[in-house]
Amino acid sequence: MSGSSNNLHIAILSSPGVGHLIPVLLLANRLAAQHNIKTTILAVTTGGASSESSLLKLPNEEGLVETVELPLGDISHLMNPSIQVVTRLCMMLREALPLVRSAIASMGRKPDALIVDLFGTEALPIALEYDLPKYVYVPSTAWFTALTIYCPVLDGEVKGQYVDERDYLKIPGCKPVRPVDVVDPMLNRHDQQYVEYLRQGKEFTLFDGILLNSWEELESKTLEAFRENEALRSVMTAPLYPIGPLTRPIEQEVLENGLMDWLDKQPNQSVLLVSLGSGGVLSQEQMTELAWGLELSQQRFIWVVRTPTSGRVDDAFFTRDEGSEEFPGYLPSGFLTRTRNTGVLVPLWGQQVKILSHRSMGGFLTHCGWNSTLESIVSGLPMIAWPLYAEQRMNAALLTEEIGVALRPEELPTRKVVGREEIEKLVRTLIQGEDGQVMRDKVKRLKISAANALSEISGSSHKSMCQILSDIRNKRAQMID
Ligand code: UDP
Repeated sequence: MSGSSNNLHIAILSSPGVGHLIPVLLLANRLAAQHNIKTTILAVTTGGASSESSLLKLPNEEGLVETVELPLGDISHLMNPSIQVVTRLCMMLREALPLVRSAIASMGRKPDALIVDLFGTEALPIALEYDLPKYVYVPSTAWFTALTIYCPVLDGEVKGQYVDERDYLKIPGCKPVRPVDVVDPMLNRHDQQYVEYLRQGKEFTLFDGILLNSWEELESKTLEAFRENEALRSVMTAPLYPIGPLTRPIEQEVLENGLMDWLDKQPNQSVLLVSLGSGGVLSQEQMTELAWGLELSQQRFIWVVRTPTSGRVDDAFFTRDEGSEEFPGYLPSGFLTRTRNTGVLVPLWGQQVKILSHRSMGGFLTHCGWNSTLESIVSGLPMIAWPLYAEQRMNAALLTEEIGVALRPEELPTRKVVGREEIEKLVRTLIQGEDGQVMRDKVKRLKISAANALSEISGSSHKSMCQILSDIRNKRAQMID
């Protein structure tokens, strides 16, 4: 711990949803554990007995992390299914702004800086009002950030829908983006969430810097472009601070005995985890093909299974037992019996970080949510990229084309059902093939570079965080003078 922090106090604004709150908690815990910084998390929540509230009660580092819940009142008007995710989140944060302002006003000890997550950029005037250094935390990649800040420029250059473009979308100094890989809000320029995304991109540039859950060695080219490329710098001059990878600690999870025993019996690096994140639901046809592909590959697997419906996941609870051949109609007849010795099905939710860290794991078929991606990398596991929503198509492109630690189907799984033969080949190649071994070697090197980046002895991410704290401290000293 670098005890030179002079007791800074930082407020961090988090948008609703477990997926947004977890990265903020990890950031706050990092600031406490490594830098002795006190943080107050201002967590906008949707009320009720939500899982966000249970997360907020988790033990925190050395009592330095305080959480203030900002429950939104009646949000039924935001729950209209025609309102897309990004719009809904931005509207929620907009509604929460008065709560944020009064939470800061009522703090006995005012914060020395405000960090907002990517949906909270409209809190900028509050930071200005209190004359606070202000940062955005993007718990994702520098490449996604580049597209976000450059989208207002692309908006002027591209006429029709981005997905209909023939050429890749160019961002100065960065890897170009394949049109079909754009983030969800860019899929339809006529939707409100595109307008919100453009605004976010512009507002990012008004902050003092952007924190990223990435690290220098992972995205050196993009980070260099932010520092050196004049065209990109003409859009944003504020620095990017890669401070990651911040991932959930393995110790927080406990594996159920049966699963642990099964894993313990498998050979090293032989098992594929199949899991599509907190929101990944497949079509019935795709589930069937996936089951066949896994079976035909003859590789070992753990599959976190969700019922293939239009979104209800709470009816997917089932357990693997002998006489249950007919219950999941979307699994091929006899699948459970035939894969009895090679596979385990886990209903709904798996202890992902714990499973990935087991020595018998050999790969991960993932939706490429950024948390899952980082968890795979820090476990040294190559991936099969199966992107579904948000910025996951870009993450898949980065992993396959730039970093070389993942395979992916020929076509995006959101555009075409991936057939059993292709899945069989992907799984076999990843777990047993030469290409899979090359990727495994590469991801193991990345794992080491990730640990080095976080090291308190001149790790690049550690230095980034120290730089931010030093800037905040300087600003505070100026204010006191
Ligand atoms: N997760 C898990 N078990 C599951 C599914 C997800 O523990 O069965 C965790 C996973 O380890 C990760 C987070 O939930 O930390 C999902 O975040 P990610 O960014 O990968 O994707 P999202 O679900 O937000 O799209």
